[in-house]
Amino acid sequence: MHQNKKFSVINPSKMCQPMGAVQALLGVNDTMPLIHGSQGCGTYMRFQLTRHFREPIEVASTSMSEKTVIYGGEFNLMKALKNVTEKQSPSIIAVTSSCLTETIGEDMEGIIEKFKEANLDQDLPIIIPISTPSYVESHVEGYNRTIKALVEHLAVKSVGNEKINIITGNISPADVREVKNILSDLNCENIILTDTSKNLDAPLSESALDLYKDGTTIEEIEDTANSLGTIALSKHMDSAAIYLEKQFGVKSISGPLPLGIENTDKFIGSVCKLGELEVPETIKRDRGRLIDAMVDAHSYNYHRKVAIFGDPDFVSGMTRFTCEMGMIPSVVCTGTKSKRFIEDIQIISDEKKVSPVILAGGDLYDMHREIKEVGADILVGNSYGASMAKEEDIPLFRVGFPIFDRLGAQRIFTLGYKGGINFVDQLTNTMLDYYYDEAGYEVSGDESEETIFEGYFAGEEV
Ligand code: SF4
Repeated sequence: MHQNKKFSVINPSKMCQPMGAVQALLGVNDTMPLIHGSQGCGTYMRFQLTRHFREPIEVASTSMSEKTVIYGGEFNLMKALKNVTEKQSPSIIAVTSSCLTETIGEDMEGIIEKFKEANLDQDLPIIIPISTPSYVESHVEGYNRTIKALVEHLAVKSVGNEKINIITGNISPADVREVKNILSDLNCENIILTDTSKNLDAPLSESALDLYKDGTTIEEIEDTANSLGTIALSKHMDSAAIYLEKQFGVKSISGPLPLGIENTDKFIGSVCKLGELEVPETIKRDRGRLIDAMVDAHSYNYHRKVAIFGDPDFVSGMTRFTCEMGMIPSVVCTGTKSKRFIEDIQIISDEKKVSPVILAGGDLYDMHREIKEVGADILVGNSYGASMAKEEDIPLFRVGFPIFDRLGAQRIFTLGYKGGINFVDQLTNTMLDYYYDEAGYEVSGDESEETIFEGYFAGEEV
């Protein structure tokens, strides 16, 4: 691991906690996220989410100013709750804190209670406060805290069901859809926490200002306490699963993100174990098709160096998957400081006999410096890697969040065997575009066309 110390972050590979909170809330039916902070926070979230998903994104703000920082934001929060209740009448208002309101030590729960007491005669929405101090951790923890807050406030023990709760993490709507398809193929009833598959990849509608009418419902969140188990696809977003286990005895399983063969095997194994289910032929066939796709692509990807950045579970999952594809992860970077991430990469490194540079809590400046040292043939990550890829003259395979310089981010899917097939095809085609000519010969890298032919005529394997 890189030991150099520096005292600033340059091009961070993470976002703040409220961003993760909003991402989680966009998958909840008829819910309004309300950021208790300055207007800029809400604008930043909406801007970033809209340019990624190309969908209208509703985020309310308490619009704090210099004066309210000094005197406290009680008036602003009360007024915002009143406005949102009257104008949009959602089923849930989820109030997240921000840098500013955490710094002044705002008592959000107390203010919310005051608001409820002042409106006893009204039919109020459910109001859930979520503490998301933005100056610690990252959007990953913001997502984690939000799912935990939802189940803490809503989950109720009643009659047991035959469902499995899945905490997806902030994966793409297409990946959520794929997870649901796998569960449907397995005949597994489920509750998705939270389901962005329809809300963030929706048909064109004229009523852009409506709250989402799809997504996880209040009744489903209530019922999570009665499920057979909870699987958190991200090991860094499993607090709600642990809470449900401690509080209601719902068995919890953390990760891994089903990327590639081994991780998808583990996910399907966990579902089958919890639900006492059999793996159907359709899924076995998809697994075989992924292996076939990997074999087809092997000669193009074999021993190519790949640098990967993004959220911790995505990076560790992608590190394992690219190793399965015969590639060599050279630098792996996540913005989150995480021992779990380091342990995961070390386990993969031992198993697969690779030794990537590990940056946990690193930024893209660190990553670029390491790539210059150890090299990379392709970069895998979000749009913030574009300038690094350009400078190093390597392709950027765009996946993760945010992607604002290409269309279709909400439809990128990599999870499960089918997502794996899609990833192998797309990544290999990127390598073909960049390193091979029209006839399929390598045009750059270690082997020139000339050496390939020399090898061929000398009877060597090429
Ligand atoms: S880092 Fe703080 S100020 Fe910036 S958007 Fe996030 S909450 Fe707002």
